[in-house]
Amino acid sequence: MLVWRASSRSFFFLKYGLERLKGTKKPCFAPNALVSHTENKPQIMSLVVVGSMAFDAIETPFGKSDKIIGGAGTYIAWCASNFTPIKQISVVGGDFPDSELAALTARGVDLEGVQIKKDEKTFFWSGKYHMDMNTRDTLDTQLNVLENFQPVVPESFQDCEFLMLGNLVPAVQRSVIEQLKNRPKLIIMDTMNFWMEIAMEELKKTIALVDLLMVNDSEARQLSGEYSLVKAAKTIMGMGPKYLIIKKGEHGALLFHGEKVFFAPALPLEEVFDPTGAGDTFAGGFIGHLAKTKDISFENMKTAIIVGSAMASFCVEKFGTQRLREINKADIDARLAEFVQLVNFDIDLV
Ligand code: AMP
Repeated sequence: MLVWRASSRSFFFLKYGLERLKGTKKPCFAPNALVSHTENKPQIMSLVVVGSMAFDAIETPFGKSDKIIGGAGTYIAWCASNFTPIKQISVVGGDFPDSELAALTARGVDLEGVQIKKDEKTFFWSGKYHMDMNTRDTLDTQLNVLENFQPVVPESFQDCEFLMLGNLVPAVQRSVIEQLKNRPKLIIMDTMNFWMEIAMEELKKTIALVDLLMVNDSEARQLSGEYSLVKAAKTIMGMGPKYLIIKKGEHGALLFHGEKVFFAPALPLEEVFDPTGAGDTFAGGFIGHLAKTKDISFENMKTAIIVGSAMASFCVEKFGTQRLREINKADIDARLAEFVQLVNFDIDLV
């Protein structure tokens, strides 16, 4: 009888990644832990995040929110700041609360790249979820400050090693890449159907410049024109990115690279309260882990997917960014351990 440990490889990487995550006893956000010393010169690992900062109004089968703080860049920052300091690029109106900006600064988010347009209104998005919570309708998108946003990359952001282009106008995402004097080690881009509908050609120009694209399954189909996700992945990687992540909501996420594929489940949760921002939080956990470990191998990306999935599982537990504001390192470690249990199994082949 051959005993085949079917999952031992993936389990090894998961465990290896988690041990690395657990390697520091510092609190969840510990800037000192992120400083490596080369020839006595401290080197900060620089993660630049670009993305919308917004007001959202959300309706789910379980409740309705007033105008609350949202935006892709906001979710990414709240999540990734658990792993590494962040340099944020975005734009808000005069109506965006100072207290929110102060809360992000206190998390280690450098806001020098966030423009405040005193006389204009912050981007507003409103959405309504269907009963299955996997699908939603956009009820309203008011671009406001995003309409004429021209990002300016501050000089102090030029050390960018990891660039996370959160969901935003594709031309704005591209402008940030073009302003960087040195190409970052890894450029990740997220986008959504909205831009496919109104700016497909611009979107494709930006996609051509990035290393890794993240989209959900329906967006992958829309972008590629293919129903099969495997065929869609090949077509999208043919547009430029060497890596592709396809998010499937409560059904997990797929990572593609050449002929390689990795799948990670989402944590089965008893209650999903509000899925808004889950994709951005996933992105924040994914790039936060890569930036923290400075390792962009496919194997480390597998661990990063698990970290992203664990972080997204917190996000959906409460409305908006609320849950992300509450969690600490112990919560994150416990959730990661649940993932290890979820995917660890042995098979006896007879
Ligand atoms: P997610 O649920 O991960 O897809 O992200 C939801 C967040 O994306 C919300 O907080 C919105 O404010 C933001 N968002 C929605 N539409 C757009 C858009 N067209 N451009 C930029 N951000 C958007």
